[in-house]
Amino acid sequence: TNYSKEEILQKAKELELEFIHLQFTDIMGVMKNISITIEQLEKALDNEIMFDGSSIDGFVRIEESDMYLRPDLSTFVVFPWTNGSREARMICDVYRPDGTPFDGCPRNTLKRVLKEAEEMGYIMNVGPECEFFLFHTNERGEPTLDTHDNAGYFDLAPVDLGGDARKDMTITLKQMGFEIEASHHEVAQGQHEIDFLYADALATADNIMTFKMAVRIIAQRHGLHATFMPKPKFGINGSGMHINMSLATLDGKNAFYDESDPLKLSKAAYHYLGGIVKHAKAFAAVTNPTINSYKRLVPGYEAPVLIAWSSSNRSPLIRIPAKRGNSTRIELRNPDPSANPYLALAAVLKAGLDGIKNEIEPPAPVCSNVYHMSDEEMKEKGIEGLPTNLYEAIQELSKDEVLKEALGAHIFEKFSDAALLEWSEYSRYVSQWELDRYLRKF
Ligand code: GLN
Ligand code: MG
Ligand code: MG
Ligand code: MG
Repeated sequence: TNYSKEEILQKAKELELEFIHLQFTDIMGVMKNISITIEQLEKALDNEIMFDGSSIDGFVRIEESDMYLRPDLSTFVVFPWTNGSREARMICDVYRPDGTPFDGCPRNTLKRVLKEAEEMGYIMNVGPECEFFLFHTNERGEPTLDTHDNAGYFDLAPVDLGGDARKDMTITLKQMGFEIEASHHEVAQGQHEIDFLYADALATADNIMTFKMAVRIIAQRHGLHATFMPKPKFGINGSGMHINMSLATLDGKNAFYDESDPLKLSKAAYHYLGGIVKHAKAFAAVTNPTINSYKRLVPGYEAPVLIAWSSSNRSPLIRIPAKRGNSTRIELRNPDPSANPYLALAAVLKAGLDGIKNEIEPPAPVCSNVYHMSDEEMKEKGIEGLPTNLYEAIQELSKDEVLKEALGAHIFEKFSDAALLEWSEYSRYVSQWELDRYLRKF
């Protein structure tokens, strides 16, 4: 809802709110929160709430640390899970003291790329499919890898012990204004998916952050731990966050639909696809930003490994779901829920827009299960693989000027520094796998 300042003040009074949480997301995709008492609400609505940016990872140095929060009034929502106290939140953009948007704020970054799309005559719509695991916690409340759950894809209770928690999550999300389209048990034990209605890209990025927060909180209430880690367990499916996206023209028509094409896809759709294929190696660093992300992108677990598209098969990177007309869309299957949704959507959109601008033709679609494609066949068809680890992905990102422009110099630098630091630590770590394999042998 597009509330005015007066309406928010009025609501706060009517609902007798006590606390307001001002939320924003850091570069690594972690939600940050500054809580104020209701007495300070007016000050917050006047964009006067300040915080120390130097205490946030990857934000700024101490010398320039004053930052201001500008709440987006349309994101006002009352928390349904507080026992007794009355609390609401608003999602904020981060501004510098001189009134300019801070370029280390991922939400500003997405807004900048969305504006570029709008100047080209497009609005990006996105519907995500967020998967996650529910694990039991131990006596000390720490997460285990235990699920006590023998259910599989679309199974029903009583085998699905996480089902109660998931139902509660759905109810809570509805109370917060989400329209839930589907909610089901996923392929792996303890794995779930809840899908909510698509919206414009900014609202969807906000929704993903809110979704993860709500899912974690409700899981905790059920004595469970919800994790969005991409591949928590070896040998079973990981968790993806498929991104269904389309462009609409400014008058609201689906720009990917064209009745006259054999696949009923427009020129813009093909070029967008061409841009996605061209930049996939580079945006992987953003859509799959952790060391663990690349343990999901391996053959055999319904996650993509090759940069190819298909109008039906689910093994390649991109699938075009069967729906046409206003529902015409592209499903990108590599993103995982550890991604910062603002940066991921900014990067993917920028890739697609580059395809439209430069009329990049996509390669021919593949029809077979690409997990079984031989190296020769790949070469012959000109199909390449996604990066196989975070280091490779960062190298690809560093070579891609279009995507670096999407992130902006500040975020690119902080983002890649953090990833390389992780990589360096991980590379030096001696794992259990190595001990099992070499300790006795050598
Ligand atoms: N869990 C799979 C992945 O990693 C997707 C499974 C599905 O939704 N069909 O992407
Ligand atoms: Mg799904
Ligand atoms: Mg799924
Ligand atoms: Mg899907």
